[in-house]
Order: sequence, then structure tokens, then C-alpha cells
Amino acid sequence: DSDSDSDGAADQPKKKKIAVMTSGGDSPGMSPAVRAVVRSGIYFGCDMFAVYEGYEGLVRGGDLLKKMEWEDVRGFLSHGGTDIGTARCAEFRERKGRLQGAYNMVVNGIDALVVCGGDGSLTGADLFRSEWPSLIEELVQTGRLTAAEAEPHRHLTIVGLVGSIDNDMAGTDATIGAYSALERISEMVDYIDETANSHSRAFVVEVMGRHCGWLGLMSGLSTGADYIFIPERPPKHGKWQDELKEICSRHRGYGKRNTTVIVAEGAIDDELQPITAETVKDVLVELGLDTRITTLGHVQRGGTAVAYDRMLSTLQGVEAVKAVLESTPDIPSPVIGIAENQIVRQPLVDSVRDTKMVATAIEAKDFDKAMSLRDSTFAEAYEAYLSTALHDDGSQLLPETERLNIGIVHVGASLSALNATTRAAALYCLSKGHKLFAIQNGFSGLIKDGVIKELSWLDVDGWHNKGGSEIGTNRSLPAEHYGDVAYYLQRYNLNGLLIVGGFEAFTALHQLESQKELYPVFNIPKVVVPATVSNNVPGTEYSLGSDTCLNQLVNYCDAIKQSASSTRRRVFVVEVQGGNSGYVACYAGLVTGAMAVYTPELKINLQTIREDIDLLVDVFDGDRGEDKNGKVVIRNEHASKVYTSELLSDIFSEAAKGRFETRTAIPGHVQQGYTPSSMDRVMAVRFAVQSVKFIEQWSHKAYETLHQGSSHHAVNNLKMLDVMRTHPHNSVVIGIQNALLVFSDIKALYQDDADMRLRKGKTVHWENLSEVGDILSGRSRLRDRR
Ligand code: ATP
Repeated sequence: DSDSDSDGAADQPKKKKIAVMTSGGDSPGMSPAVRAVVRSGIYFGCDMFAVYEGYEGLVRGGDLLKKMEWEDVRGFLSHGGTDIGTARCAEFRERKGRLQGAYNMVVNGIDALVVCGGDGSLTGADLFRSEWPSLIEELVQTGRLTAAEAEPHRHLTIVGLVGSIDNDMAGTDATIGAYSALERISEMVDYIDETANSHSRAFVVEVMGRHCGWLGLMSGLSTGADYIFIPERPPKHGKWQDELKEICSRHRGYGKRNTTVIVAEGAIDDELQPITAETVKDVLVELGLDTRITTLGHVQRGGTAVAYDRMLSTLQGVEAVKAVLESTPDIPSPVIGIAENQIVRQPLVDSVRDTKMVATAIEAKDFDKAMSLRDSTFAEAYEAYLSTALHDDGSQLLPETERLNIGIVHVGASLSALNATTRAAALYCLSKGHKLFAIQNGFSGLIKDGVIKELSWLDVDGWHNKGGSEIGTNRSLPAEHYGDVAYYLQRYNLNGLLIVGGFEAFTALHQLESQKELYPVFNIPKVVVPATVSNNVPGTEYSLGSDTCLNQLVNYCDAIKQSASSTRRRVFVVEVQGGNSGYVACYAGLVTGAMAVYTPELKINLQTIREDIDLLVDVFDGDRGEDKNGKVVIRNEHASKVYTSELLSDIFSEAAKGRFETRTAIPGHVQQGYTPSSMDRVMAVRFAVQSVKFIEQWSHKAYETLHQGSSHHAVNNLKMLDVMRTHPHNSVVIGIQNALLVFSDIKALYQDDADMRLRKGKTVHWENLSEVGDILSGRSRLRDRR
């Protein structure tokens, strides 16, 4: 096989042969990564191979090195773990094992290897590449390869993908599998909470992470844990026991019925003494709490990948193949990461070196350095954890004169992360001495009843995972009665306002802003926290609730695809939410392996329908019977007035001529989810804390201007509002842009980015999702063939 390629006509470019393997501990998302590598490789004209059983397969060769076709990876997107097996291979650690690996690659004509694994696997990969020329030399000298056989293989291309649940690799904000593991942990702790509440018990939950506290920290945020132990921020030796007791008793004192403490596997104190679940339990027992330990273990690796990991592994898999195709001998081996929401390439050596530096820093007790080596959001998340879990001890209270009254209102559809946002805002406010007032039942509630309620610590207890809105939400807007809204904001002396919701929240903020001249109280700082399944709020690439929605859609589509397993030839037209924005449809299309995606941005026409029918016919014809599942086509609810889901389904049925059947499937309100996803919960805390901080900063600025540093004045009065008037940028949308947390001025957004008629932002930040989705579904391949 290899000969035929190397001897090919001189003007024929040699077909690249790329192998993909998964190695080390498995993680959800590895199978989707393999699918993406194999299919995009084929799309770009390469021969693709899978190395089964990690480096073991490379060393043993034979059947463990298998040529992969397009159909071989069908269904991989919905599979947990790795379909091509993984192993730990002692032989590969020895030169002898690597020599055999090199031999097996050369005889199969493979010139590039994409390795998906943790830092160990990637260290091995890097070593393999640096040794490669000498391995080839040895194979020639020992007569196992002829010089002619060896010649085309003087260089090895290695590309790394980070598959690890720990999120411990430098150079990437997220590793493939980390968010799935976080989701598993959060689900399990939710279950434990129920029984803990019933019996008024304490639970010590041990989570994975030998050298990395990411899972510990993020699960602490998403489960509202009382305390967490992570290696990067170890508590004081001999002192932590008392601190833990104090915190847990304080929380119990408010009336909390359960206690949750999360311990990362690698937890230590600042003298590097291990802190185990057992030692933590003993402390809680001393406190008089009925305490149990739950070690989550391999459950954390289990299950299928969440939407985010399917997206990450898919985009990164495609990028890995591009990196192979663009590699030259002088470019160092890259590892594919995600940084600032962009898929990026970093030199593998640097990532491995920086990853090791964390462990070294911890060993040297340089914990600040260990923290700084984590990705940019780690420290911010840790601060958010402190302020929502520990700083109710009065240590962070602001002087009386700087304490604020802040209102929070929910606007728009009910959603799963609204309560988590309110809870985090309330806890942060309490830690500073501010008061958070819940405006009940949206703006119309305020206008009709004028009832607002100050939230206490216990009021918001347990809201981290509670779906819906405890304070009530609806679509009403301030324009219903500006005068009444102004009256109540004034009457309750509010110094700032959080408006949580989707496009209505955006509209509400703009309305208040436009009436500032008439109603001075509208000059208070105001922040929209974007929360909508549709993710259509201008100024942000992320809205709370959309991740929950995507996970719902992943589960929904997996289930309906499987429901077709006995008939095999069934296509579902799945109608998804999103308003006039195609974000949810494109993302869902990518992570469910949809054959086609129809969005409002890309108009449906007869030509695309024709092409997609051809694709479906082609897919069912090519089906070798191994893949028993149905196929999915995703249609956004507003993709077309004419081509409704029913009509599309009927057209497909008619054209199928019995080759397949078609059904519509409309998940509807299921997309709002029951409990919020762990990513939404973590982001809810981030958004809430940062939004209140924004209000604090503006109030502080106005106060300083007014009183020139003197601190003996009450904070709220008309003069303050007057000062605010001269600060035109205090009304914003908080959001994520390029993974950075940003505040965008409402007026600028309204002018430049808002499409008020279509109720969405004009910026499309998800183009690459549909491009990659089309490559992997075969849609692009079919188009190119025409
Ligand atoms: P996890 O995140 O689950 O620990 P990992 O990839 O770090 O994943 P390891 O067990 O460290 O898992 O490594 C997996 C395999 O990679 C090893 O069994 C070995 O075959 C290879 N490997 C690891 N380190 C090296 C090394 N320094 N040299 C050569 N091969 C290595």
C-alpha cells in the first residue's frame, strides 16, 4: 500500500496517511474527536487510520492499525469514552517499544499521528517525534527497513488533542471531557443533596483531580458547596479544621439542612499534608454532624459527552487534521487548544512544560504561581467561590456609607439558570453588606403591586440548581408604565438594577435608558445578565440557559435517533428554538451530527432541499447496516415561513420513494431544561458577581466625584443620580466576547448591533459551527462532488 503511493506518478501529490489514537485515561469526547479527525481527514483527501488501544496498538501493529472509512465512525458522536480503545502501555516508555511503533507506522505508510490524551500521552508523543529520525536510522541499520522504504518517512508529524477530564493541561482553557465530568459530578451531588436534606446530613464528596483543582472548584460553584479543598489553594496546616467547622456551623445556623464539602483527590494543606475525605469527615463528625463520604470515582468519566465537549472535540479534531496538512519539519508539534473561545495551536512542548510547572510550583509551596499557571478564569472563579460560599463571615463588609440597595428583576421566558443567578447575586451582596431586592413577577409585577422583597441567605439556599424563577418572570416591559417603575425604584431607594433575561431584558434596559431625562432614577447603574435559550442578546456570545438547552437537545436527538433503531431508515426533522437566531440550530446540528441544518440566516430554498434529499439517499445507500440509528435534520423554528417542519418532512417523504421514512419531532419547552447545566450554573455565578461589582464600581465613582473622598455621606440621593447622568456608560450588557468577560454599553449595542425587528444581535459568531457541521455530515462532500 505504502509503495503504491510513494511510487505514484511524479505529478500526483502523495496522499497523506494520518492515524488517530486515544491514549491514557478515557474521557467523554474522545470518540467524537476520532470521528472528526477521520471524517475531516477523508474530506481533505487523506487516507485515515485508527490505532486501537493507544500506544499498545502502535507497538503491536497488525489488526490494531486499521484503515478507517467514513461510515466506520458513524454514531461515535453519541458515544462516551473511546470507541477505538485506550490503554496504558509500559513498552512505549522504552525506546524498544517506540522503535517497534515507528516500524509499524512506516510499513503502513503512515506519516502523521494525531494523539488524543492527557499530559503523559502527549509527553510520549513529543518524545516519539524528537526521536523519530534516530528510530528510522536504527531500523535501516538493522536491516528492518531499506533506505528506499525509509526515505519518505524521515519526518513524523505529531498533533496533540487534550483528552482529559481533569482540565489540567496548560495552553487550553478546557480539555476534552472536563465539562462532561463536571456535569456528572453536579448531577451526583444534586442527588446526594436530596438525601442529605432529608436526613439533615453532611456529605464529603471526593472528586478527581490529582494535581488540578478545576473539577473541585467548578463543582463547588455549581453545587453551592459549603467548602472545597483544592491543591492550588491549600488551607492552613492545623487551622483548616476549625475554619471548616466555623463555616459549616454558620451555614447551619442560617437554617441550612445539609452540608456539602468537596475534596479534590489531590487536596493538601499548605504544609503539603494530604487532606482526605476521611480526615474531613472526622472534623464534621466532631462538629456533631451525621456525615457520610461519597467517592464519585469512575462515574465522573462515565456517560456520553455533554454538548460543549462534543463541540470542542469536533472543532479540535478538524483543526488537528488542518495542522497535520500544514505542518513542515521545522514547525514544532502543536497541541490543539481552546483559548479565548478560539481553537488555537500551541507548541506541544510548551504545554507539557507549563503543565508540569503547576505540580512543581505546588511542591515548592508556591501556590500563587500554581494559581497563575491555570487558565485566566480559574482565579476569577475562585474569587467568586470565596464571595458566595465563605465571605458571609462579615470579613468583606464595606463601610456603611458604601452599601447599596440593588434590585433584581427577571424578564422573559422561564429558564433554568435564573435562580442560580439570583442566588449568587444575593450571596455576593450579603458578603459586602448590600441588600438585594427581588422585584416579583417582572416589571408588570412592580407596576401592579409594587412588591419587592429583600433576599436573605436562607431565601436563596438551594437555588443553585433549581429551574424556573422563584421570584417570578414575565415578558412585560417598563414602557407599560414608566412612571410607576420610577416611583418604586425611588421609593425603595435602589442604587442599581440587575435585569436578567433575553432580548426583552435588553429591550427593557434600552427603554429605561431612553427615559433617563424624564425620570432621574433611571440613571442608576443597570446591567443586563443575558439569560435565554436562544442566545440572541446583542453583546455576548454566551447566554445563560443555552448550554442547558443544547444538552437537552443532545439527549433528545440521541433518544429519537435510537428510537429508529429497529426501522433503521428514518429521518427526523427536529424543530429547535432560537427565535430568529440560528445559534442553537447550528450548535445542535454540529453536536448531534445532523445531516442538515436550516436557520433564519441561511434561507431554505428548493436547491438546498434537493441537495439534502440527495444526501439522505446517499447516506442510506451507503449504510452498511452497522449503524442502526435514525438521522436528524435540524430546523430552527423561524427558518422559513413557507418550509415548515411538516412541509419539509412531507417533501422528504415524497422524494424518498420508500427508501426512508420521515417524521417531525418538536422538543418545545423541554429545551428550557429542568435543572440548569453545570456550565450554566458556573457562568451564572460569574455573571452575577461581576454584575454587582460593576454596579459597585459606578456607585463608587459617582460617590467619589460627589464627596471628593470624604466618606461621611449617605450613598443615595438625588445628587448622586445627577452625577451618574454625566457618566453615560453605566448601563450595560454583561457578556462573553472572545472568552473575555465584557460590559457593553447599551446605547452602542442598540445602535450598532441590535436588530430590533428580528430581536437579535447582528453579529454572527457561530459561522464555523455550520461549516464544520457540513463537512462532517457529508453535506459539503456531496456539494463538492457536483
Ligand atoms: P491521564 O490524564 O488519564 O493521566 P495520560 O495521557 O496523562 O492521561 P498516562 O498514563 O500518563 O496518561 O500516559 C498514557 C501512556 O502514554 C502511557 O501508558 C505511555 O504509554 C505513554 N507515555 C506517558 N508518558 C510517557 C513518556 N514520558 N514517554 C513515553 N511514553 C509515555
